[in-house]
Amino acid sequence: MIYLWYNEIRYESERKKMINIEKEYKLLQDLSFVRVSGRGDEEKAADLIVKALEAEGLAARKETFEVDSFNVESGVLEVLAPFTKQYDVTTYANCGTTPEGGLEAELCYFESDNEVCRKNVKGKIALVNGYLGRAVYKALVECGAVGFISFSGDIDKSVEVTDIDTRELRAPLRDLGVIPGVHMRVHDVMEMMDAGASKVKFTVNQEVGKAESCNVVCEIKGTEDTKETIVFTGHYDSVPFSKGAYDNATGSVCLYALAMYFKDHAPKRNLVFVFCGSEERGLLGSKAYCAQHEDELENVIYCINVDMIGCTLGRRIAVATADEKVVSFTDYFAKIVGFPISASQGVYSSDSTPFADKGVPAISFARITPQGGGSIHNRFDVMEHLSARYLGEDTEFICKYAETLANSYVFPIKKEMPQKMKDELDKYLGRDKKDDAKNQKAK
Ligand SMILES: [Zn+2]
Repeated sequence: MIYLWYNEIRYESERKKMINIEKEYKLLQDLSFVRVSGRGDEEKAADLIVKALEAEGLAARKETFEVDSFNVESGVLEVLAPFTKQYDVTTYANCGTTPEGGLEAELCYFESDNEVCRKNVKGKIALVNGYLGRAVYKALVECGAVGFISFSGDIDKSVEVTDIDTRELRAPLRDLGVIPGVHMRVHDVMEMMDAGASKVKFTVNQEVGKAESCNVVCEIKGTEDTKETIVFTGHYDSVPFSKGAYDNATGSVCLYALAMYFKDHAPKRNLVFVFCGSEERGLLGSKAYCAQHEDELENVIYCINVDMIGCTLGRRIAVATADEKVVSFTDYFAKIVGFPISASQGVYSSDSTPFADKGVPAISFARITPQGGGSIHNRFDVMEHLSARYLGEDTEFICKYAETLANSYVFPIKKEMPQKMKDELDKYLGRDKKDDAKNQKAK
């Protein structure tokens, strides 16, 4: 192994470790609890981050924003034919209401969005595979499905350790039309389909309410008289049942370690650390930050996002929503300092995206676990799969990368977004160009 970054070899040998891994790891342990958007536990996490920053002499503030409430109810799905049985479900938050007495319909396995499934689903309750994304939901609405069922879990894990996920029909999906839905355990769905369930019934009653979430913001003024600012983002919320140690307490504590470092080593340019709330519900915190600071975005020259690092088993990636040159720079930089990472161009599903969408070149850093080496979005996202060693290495690399850029003589990354990335952002953010053209015509 020639990789010795975190041990002794440095191209700037006079400097010892840049970051305080002990404090970083301690905060990681402290944050390792369920932190769901718009609920008290998310606020508790925000307060812990504020306190940790203030203890280091850094000024931190909470910036609140409104989110839809996230009330999920437990219920049952009744199979009515050709056998009868009840299964536990959770209702999708904010998915409307079913008629009195419940929604009863034939079941259609909407395996994928293809023409046969589309024709078959009309007037039925659709069972979908995997995460209910916008494309499939749109197809269900267009094809006249009256309800939907999704499921999660791992068929090879026991029922006892499989929580029934809680899901939400997010606003961008509701805008397409509201269909009620429920979520189930994979084990139950497997049994139900094996037994040939053909008619089902469920009840939901989901009004949309409002709740509060917040970003934690900490600023460090640069030593030069400049408005140029680098924003760091990392979300601190998690999903229900998940302590989110890896996703993304690790990114949050990375930002904390960077803020501690830069407090004592202020770079030329200004730095803003945004610990984002409500990322897991559709990047709501970073979207809120971009909306609340719209005027200041013209001074933001780069966004560095950290989402999921520090796992013991994994591989490092950097995804730049920016010009190809940023990919090359990141690749060369990593090679120069001896850090193994694969850099590529693309849209990363995290808080860098709203910034990129506002024209700010953005990059996301992550260390991705191999299959079986760790989990996210369930009860298995825990400290045991993480290590101080890799968290320290990841944080040090990001620190060095950021410092080099923040102290550059001329900031080398041009503030421009290639058309290819703009198109990918449109696609990711569900902005259907054909629809827009049609809407324009209709007006
Ligand atoms: Zn995440």
